[in-house]
Amino acid sequence: MLYTSTRDTAVRATAAEAIVRGISADGGLFVPLGIPKLSLKDIERLCPLSYAGRAGEILKLYLTDFTKEELSGCVGGAYSSGKFSSERIAPLRKLGGGTYMLELWRGPTCAFKDMALQLLPYLLTAAAHRTLKGTGIVILVATSGDTGKAALEGFRDVPGTEIAVFYPENGVSPMQKLQMTAQEGGNVHVCAVEGNFDDAQNGVKAIFADRAIKSELSERGLALSSANSINWGRLVPQLVYYISAYCELLSENALRPGEKLNAVVPTGNFGNILAAFYAKEMGVPIAKLICASNANNVLTDFLKTGEYNRNRPFYRTSSPSMDILISSNLERLLFHLSKDADEVRAYMSALGKEGRYRVSDGLFAKISGLFEAGFCDDERTARTIREAYEKYGCLCDPHTAVALNVYEDYVSRTGDSTPSVIASTANPYKFPACVLSALSGKERAGDGFALMRELHALTGEPIPQSLAELECKKVRFDRVCAKGEMAPALFGMLGM
Ligand SMILES: *Cc1c(COP(=O)(O)O)cnc(C)c1O
Repeated sequence: MLYTSTRDTAVRATAAEAIVRGISADGGLFVPLGIPKLSLKDIERLCPLSYAGRAGEILKLYLTDFTKEELSGCVGGAYSSGKFSSERIAPLRKLGGGTYMLELWRGPTCAFKDMALQLLPYLLTAAAHRTLKGTGIVILVATSGDTGKAALEGFRDVPGTEIAVFYPENGVSPMQKLQMTAQEGGNVHVCAVEGNFDDAQNGVKAIFADRAIKSELSERGLALSSANSINWGRLVPQLVYYISAYCELLSENALRPGEKLNAVVPTGNFGNILAAFYAKEMGVPIAKLICASNANNVLTDFLKTGEYNRNRPFYRTSSPSMDILISSNLERLLFHLSKDADEVRAYMSALGKEGRYRVSDGLFAKISGLFEAGFCDDERTARTIREAYEKYGCLCDPHTAVALNVYEDYVSRTGDSTPSVIASTANPYKFPACVLSALSGKERAGDGFALMRELHALTGEPIPQSLAELECKKVRFDRVCAKGEMAPALFGMLGM
């Protein structure tokens, strides 16, 4: 399987090259030249396997230049080494009727980013071993909160790597911030940016596009790579849990082979829902892809009208990992559906210059056939957290609640009774103030650890060990930089 760029189909890269480079030199994203197909028989054959086993079978369709041994080492290290709090890795929880929560937050940092970022360091070091020979890798990350911590945890003390994470100074929750600033490890670096997530992401993209920075690093034997969801190595592990969820439901006789399933995904950078799109294209019987946004509803508008317009107010919401106005992975969808890199390049150029573009009627028709969309503000998010707890005994974090609310809206609007899987993307204890305020109906703030204990006393839900133990950890990183100063900050962190 070879990869090309969403902006230039003359580009060719192996999977290893795509993963090491992160982004194509033309600014486009790497995409597979074809999407491999799974028959229903193939899917049924995955059912008896463990999560790691299923992951190995699926990855080998995409990472054809990795050996069988490499892949089984990668998936075994990520998913069979006891780092997840469920043996099933991504267990399903039935809410009622045919509705399920797909719990993607069982990893070490309690958010769904672990699903990919526990595996990516294995993939990246195996790939770098082949393509870079002797060069050290600097992993550069912009985070809206959860990616940063998951990447730091995944890459900490991985030989041959340094990792630098930039987060928006006031754009992450106190718990998310502490998770990052107290990170342990000898190769980890964390810096706040005076700006929002889009500023941090743009700064990282600018560093990747800067030849002078590249050559300065290369003189010191270092190459840049990305752990953001624009990296193919982030995306491909995410296909696995949608396929695996279908297998789980087949195994429990909750679905008949071939029966359709909706996928509901709380969306920011469009990575998680794009993974569901790939799973559908591969042949998993997914009916609708339901895209849920918070008040930053640029994707809702796009999926309903065909116009992407980022010229709008930016809101800081109770679901900060979705506070995004430029959803980078959407570019991959546009490419797969249009099959036209010139068209994609024109859209992305308009987005850069005018902050907006409108897709062609033909492309919009394809998108409309696949996606449903809705959004949910903070007030309704809070109400949904309370109702989900009262109705189902299910304690949701705010991101998951956004998805649940949009799904309930969709069902009452359409009457669609297709079984549905809702991606549950974070453990509620990552956002204790929000969740406790929602349950009690009173605005709560203050010491996150006291709030966690109170939430535990109220609900009896276990507090994840990795969050509880943060209370006695020391803050190691307090660097802040202006949004135009990220490159010097990076050099500073690397001691250059
Ligand atoms: C990152 C994140 C999202 C959004 O996922 P995308 O792949 O960026 O669309 C949703 N919820 C949580 C908790 C996240 O960390």
